[in-house]
Amino acid sequence: ESIRLNHVVMQVIDQYKTTYANPILLIDDAVHSTVTGDHDKLVQVLTNLLSNAIKFSHAASEINISMHNEQQRVVVRISDQGIGIPQEQIASLFQKFRRVDNSEAKRIGGTGLGLAICKEILNSHEGEIGIESEEGIGTTVWFSLPLQLPNNEKDQSFVTIDSDNDDKPNVMI
Ligand code: ATP
Ligand code: MG
Repeated sequence: ESIRLNHVVMQVIDQYKTTYANPILLIDDAVHSTVTGDHDKLVQVLTNLLSNAIKFSHAASEINISMHNEQQRVVVRISDQGIGIPQEQIASLFQKFRRVDNSEAKRIGGTGLGLAICKEILNSHEGEIGIESEEGIGTTVWFSLPLQLPNNEKDQSFVTIDSDNDDKPNVMI
């Protein structure tokens, strides 16, 4: 299935905008964002990551989502200004039921499955996922997926085939 990842991102942001007060900002710099995969599963990845960003943020702090192309991949970054994650615990959080072991994170709660599910879904899409975080400052979770190459490369160049964002920069609040 061909999926416009920027549409999936906008769809998930829309769902959260109605229930959460945090400003969610999307900067879409991806000229190309068509990937091959399972639509519902990619919605699930975005939902898990955005729900974490909201859940572990301070009330009404900003969440920034950005999209851009890097080599032949699309990279999505979800950045929050929340409680952050201790450096030494980041790598283990992709295991099932793993949660940050401190009082602040425990107070917020969760089952510890979201990131493990994201990793599994991304693995099955040739995707990658990573976390950069600083305690007390915030967290950025990024993931990347291979772009779907155009069928007819001799007629249309890679960058012009999918220019669905002519009105760049595309910022949505
Ligand atoms: P579930 O997603 O199953 O409802 P959960 O959110 O606790 O529960 P994960 O999404 O797998 O589980 O995240 C694992 C842990 O990683 C979280 O419990 C939290 O400690 C930490 N974490 C994940 N995202 C963030 C974030 N954006 N900021 C701070 N901590 C985070
Ligand atoms: Mg979660």
